[in-house]
Amino acid sequence: MLTGIFSPNQCAQCKLCCNFHRSSAWETPALEPAQVFLMHELCVPLVERQDGTTSFFLDFRSEDSDEVANCPMLNPDAGCMLPRDERPFECRIWPVRVMRDSSTIVIGIYRACPAMSADCFEKLKRHTLDNLLPDILAYAKRNPRAVREFNTAYQIIWRS
Ligand code: SF4
Ligand code: SF4
Repeated sequence: MLTGIFSPNQCAQCKLCCNFHRSSAWETPALEPAQVFLMHELCVPLVERQDGTTSFFLDFRSEDSDEVANCPMLNPDAGCMLPRDERPFECRIWPVRVMRDSSTIVIGIYRACPAMSADCFEKLKRHTLDNLLPDILAYAKRNPRAVREFNTAYQIIWRS
């Protein structure tokens, strides 16, 4: 997630970004080739997402749809074990997400993040448009399969 805008304490208590229900397992982040290489080096189990990109394998122990599995890179006490620069791009910009709405690229902010006050939303929007936009568009260009379909849980802040 975007540090500096969210309080690390809020995220440490919430951890929503790094836990996945069986029904939201498709939300695991896409890994780029260097990250896939690193994960193989670390013997972290991976899977192929439906869009053909590679992501983390989630170790569900039952068929219970409410069961939650951690991202294998999450230390429940200390947070993400990956250095910030080595995290998947989707993790680095969360709760901002790049999506596709028909043939249009859109950028949205996840409104249900528990830390998302109105002030925080405005700061995040400003920061995204002023600082992150080129990186987000470059990511979408080099990883077109990883760009997900637009979802109404996100408030659009930019449209191509
Ligand atoms: S959902 Fe929001 S508060 Fe929770 S961990 Fe993610 S960024 Fe932090
Ligand atoms: S890579 Fe890190 S930030 Fe991303 S989901 Fe896994 S634990 Fe969370």
